[in-house]
Amino acid sequence: MRLQTQTIHTGVDKDSAYNSIMTPIYQTSTFRFEDIGRTKGYDYTRTSNPTRRALEENLAALEGGAGAVAVATGMAAITTTLHLFKSGDHIICTHDCYGGTDRILRTYQELFNLQVSYVNLQDPSALRSAFRPNTRCVWIETPSNPLLNILDIAAIAESAHSHGALAVVDNTFLTPVNQRPFTLGADIIVHSTTKYLNGHSDVVGGAVIARTPAYAERLQYLCNALGQGASPFDCWLVLRGIKTLVPRMRLHEQNAMGVAQFLAGHPRVRKVIYPGLTNHPHHALASRQQTGFGGMVSFELAGGLEDIHRVLRGVKVFALAESLGGVESLIDHPESMTHASMDPSLRAAAGITENIIRLSVGLEDLQDLLDDLKGAMQGAA
Ligand SMILES: *Cc1c(COP(=O)(O)O)cnc(C)c1O
Repeated sequence: MRLQTQTIHTGVDKDSAYNSIMTPIYQTSTFRFEDIGRTKGYDYTRTSNPTRRALEENLAALEGGAGAVAVATGMAAITTTLHLFKSGDHIICTHDCYGGTDRILRTYQELFNLQVSYVNLQDPSALRSAFRPNTRCVWIETPSNPLLNILDIAAIAESAHSHGALAVVDNTFLTPVNQRPFTLGADIIVHSTTKYLNGHSDVVGGAVIARTPAYAERLQYLCNALGQGASPFDCWLVLRGIKTLVPRMRLHEQNAMGVAQFLAGHPRVRKVIYPGLTNHPHHALASRQQTGFGGMVSFELAGGLEDIHRVLRGVKVFALAESLGGVESLIDHPESMTHASMDPSLRAAAGITENIIRLSVGLEDLQDLLDDLKGAMQGAA
């Protein structure tokens, strides 16, 4: 089956009692035994639950992995994955990773002596010289947030493997619709399903998908041991969201391209960052590695902080909010919002200035989005 068919059908058929088309919400903590030592496949929901199972089978198929675990948040996915490693192991992480990834890595550095190096993975020689004998993992996030830098997954995974390390990819921004990390050599994929996979801004959730059965089994073990599993109701919502993932991702991209082109022609915009534009520094890599450019657009507004504030306050369709990937458009000021807790010198080094505005372009009528931005920018001028 092809991806769009899998989004709708894979794993969802869990009701042999009544043949319901939709997966039931098995809102139960425990399951009655058939006899001593004999269950119908489930005994306790922390360990496993049919609704969660449906989502896990669905996600494993979409990414082309051997198995998946559906967990409570994207951060739970990242935390569970980090438990594949042990005290003294070394992890190389992309220098402009998601803020929560940085926070848990620093915490595990302090608590458990996990060794962490932050490296600009756009630079192959910087990566080569970062490996140590105890390097177990290279943590990749592409496109980056909010500057949308693209990393070469195949090259980085090959480098990781030649040093005996795993390649982990955070595929939240593109989803399997636009990027298939396992086909590029990744070993583990993590997701915040909060974003595009669910797509309706009504759940926080996460998932880890493993390429091999051995890692899939280990992740199931860790998910149960750590108690990270997602609730049946949340799994059901994410399953429902995924059914429209393919058409949503297409429309997100179409609207994002329209917004990027509009911004590129606007006199008050200094720079537009969208990997779909031919002037993006990694456009060629993005075109080769991805099957779509996604729905995130960042731009640099000319002027001072007052002008930025006027735009953030002036929009009416875009909502001033953190998060991304929902059907509704959001506007974010990374410096004061999503990236405020980042070390100021690291933020500056990464190029996240106060003039950067990040848009999660939703599925509204494109003309309404353009009119909204046009009106807010006039206010700023
Ligand atoms: C949001 C996000 C996370 C964390 O997910 P939560 O569901 O908020 O815990 C991790 N990685 C990326 C790239 C994200 O955008």
